[in-house]
Amino acid sequence: MYNRVALIGLGLIAGSMSLAMRRAGVAGEITGYARSQATRDTAREIGLVDRVCDTATEAVKDADLIVLAVPVGAMGPVMAEIAPALKPGAVVTDVGSVKKSVLDAVMPHIPEGAHFIGTHPMAGTEHSGPRSGFAELFDNRWCLIVPPEGANEGEVKKLEDFWSALGANIERMDPEHHDIVCAVVSHVPHLIAYTMVGVADDLRRVTDQEVIKFSAAGFRDFTRIAASDPTMWRDVFLTNKEAALEILGRFTEELFALQRAIRTGDGDTLHDYFTRTRAIRRGII
Ligand code: NAD
Repeated sequence: MYNRVALIGLGLIAGSMSLAMRRAGVAGEITGYARSQATRDTAREIGLVDRVCDTATEAVKDADLIVLAVPVGAMGPVMAEIAPALKPGAVVTDVGSVKKSVLDAVMPHIPEGAHFIGTHPMAGTEHSGPRSGFAELFDNRWCLIVPPEGANEGEVKKLEDFWSALGANIERMDPEHHDIVCAVVSHVPHLIAYTMVGVADDLRRVTDQEVIKFSAAGFRDFTRIAASDPTMWRDVFLTNKEAALEILGRFTEELFALQRAIRTGDGDTLHDYFTRTRAIRRGII
């Protein structure tokens, strides 16, 4: 499908893409680059891509598709670095968890004749790094396609076919809508999970050992995602500020309403709330 694919960043998402591309046979040669020497060494050792390069510009040279799979805050600087090395007609995409700020950061650097199309595979685990990827990560998961205004329809369609070949289901979205959807289904839930771990850690009357020992009572399921990479999540909140604050405001309102119901012994409010939200949750497989 693409003769040469370059992966910039060699972590969970890029690694899984490389393995899924090989499984689907949709790429000729796969090159890769990551900023840290240790990551490049590991990627070489485990043969994560066909060729690990020591610079980003070397990795993108002659590539037909370039995937930016670095933390969201690094997308703009990486794009600026590789822009002069892109071949005419190259397609650049990103896999970042935030879309509006990524488009704003990369679009000014896209050279004449090259294309940029944003994507976001809605798939992940709490693990990161070059050893964490697996070929099945995208199977039956959504991949949101976020083309900038005026994008080349043929290239967008080809990139959608590529993600389908990696196992994903496709839906197009505009960047603002993407960011509010992801704030509610992913970003704020991660923040709340991190917070719950912080609350447990801060308590003096419950020890860390007790939290670990009795975590199956809800804590373990609820906070699994709080083991995720801190750099990635710092960048998500710095770049999706508006949408995250909107959802966080709604969350705080609901929490205060429940807090009041508990304080005043308002069982009907609690019961109605749990009944309504349980029905919604049961609709999610
Ligand atoms: P990861 O931490 O596993 O990998 C990130 C990689 O980027 C590492 O190889 C690191 O060395 C490299 N890197 C960091 N800064 C760099 C720079 N300036 N130049 C070059 N390489 C650099 O992270 P990941 O989970 O693969 O996430 C990558 C992107 O995918 C992020 O933008 C994230 O928002 C997005 N994403 C993550 C998930 C998830 O659940 N983990 C899901 C969907 C999308």
